[in-house]
Amino acid sequence: MIDLHTHSFFSDGVLIPSELVYRAKVKGYSCLALTDHGDFSNFDFIIPRIRRVAAELSKNYNIIVLPGIEITYVPPKLIKKAVARCRALGAKVVVVHGETTAETVPPGTNRSAALSGADILAHPGLISAQDALLAKKNNVCLEITTRRGHNKTNKHVAARAKECGAKLVLNTDSHSPDDLLDAGKIKKILSVSGLKSADFSEMRRNSENIIRKATRRK
Ligand SMILES: [Zn+2]
Ligand SMILES: [Zn+2]
Repeated sequence: MIDLHTHSFFSDGVLIPSELVYRAKVKGYSCLALTDHGDFSNFDFIIPRIRRVAAELSKNYNIIVLPGIEITYVPPKLIKKAVARCRALGAKVVVVHGETTAETVPPGTNRSAALSGADILAHPGLISAQDALLAKKNNVCLEITTRRGHNKTNKHVAARAKECGAKLVLNTDSHSPDDLLDAGKIKKILSVSGLKSADFSEMRRNSENIIRKATRRK
């Protein structure tokens, strides 16, 4: 199992990174990205600290741990700059908190994320065909999520991705250990999203591509 969107208590998750990683390892994960909520106030606080622990945990717990960030509620005009800043600080997986229908995310966030150089546009809600096409063109993966609230539009996101040729990834957006993935959750999420096991294999390959790119980054 691979999960490229999770939260520790560096933002609103309940676990310290070491416990989150170890819990994931016990569940059978092969790779986890730590992507706490960030904006220009805390990118430089979170990323170097996650980086410091990620390498150690990877080595000692034998699981790939990638330091990342979830760019959250940054004004759409500044998202590209935020992605560059996070990369410079060493974020290996950059997620943007997309226009979920469960919240009031600033309109234009999906579009800016698709043009930003981020790896993943998380929970993009009722994403337009135009934005899904931009995501495809710029190699930004759209997210299918198990997270309650955000998961309401999975079916729409999956259909849009297919229609526009955009790539999908499956993440949990875990905030607590109960949110982590298992076989039952995967089966359920595929079925409610109108996806098949072949789609799961493809989402896995897309995640593996992000991991490959991430591990090449300094
Ligand atoms: Zn989010
Ligand atoms: Zn999140």
